[in-house]
Amino acid sequence: APVIVAIDGPSGTGKSSTSKAVAAQLGLRYLDTGAQYRAITWWMVTNGIDTDDPQAIAAAAGKPEIVSGTDPADPAITVDGVDVSGPIRTQEVTARVSAVSAVPEVRARITELQRSIAAAAEHGIVVEGRDIGTTVLPDADLKIFLTASAEARAARRSGELKGADVNATREALIKRDAADSSRKTSPLAKADDAVEVDTTDLTLAQVVECVVTLVEE
Ligand code: C5P
Repeated sequence: APVIVAIDGPSGTGKSSTSKAVAAQLGLRYLDTGAQYRAITWWMVTNGIDTDDPQAIAAAAGKPEIVSGTDPADPAITVDGVDVSGPIRTQEVTARVSAVSAVPEVRARITELQRSIAAAAEHGIVVEGRDIGTTVLPDADLKIFLTASAEARAARRSGELKGADVNATREALIKRDAADSSRKTSPLAKADDAVEVDTTDLTLAQVVECVVTLVEE
């Protein structure tokens, strides 16, 4: 049977790096659900939709066509045929993504997309996000919840965003996690049956080994 692995947690815990490496090592597909929320947010910003207006977001939620690549070595994402892998990582999109992804119509649409991608993965898939173990794939074979101290998370993120200020990154990250954790529809949360892994003092290789071992058990 295909293996479904759900990896959830806040930003900067190493979810993407871990999920891609686990998928590559086990020959599974990979889905970055944060990229999908970023892609729909990018489309809203590009098309002049007011991202502070939940009704305007809800009305437009069905318009963009989002296609996610599931190769862990090259998970490109397109919106209406345009590769947006770069543009979805800007500060503007990052600052608006929590508001857009809190709108129930957006979540319903993206969740449906996620389930159909997971169902199509012949050998299985590693799906990373915030609500995968709780809402999107509650029957996943393995659920991981990654955590790390706020300091470690901010340091990792500012390392990724070259030249970014650590304090500003830390504030933005804490604000986004608070918004993601407090929204009404499928907030960032650990599933009751998820294995929690604190990555603060672990290397990427150690976290990957830990997850791979859990899958193989
Ligand atoms: O993982 P990443 O930081 O790229 O996610 C961007 C944003 O997408 C999150 O801050 C959150 O608002 C939203 N998201 C979500 N549910 C998911 C994955 C991401 O709401 N499963």
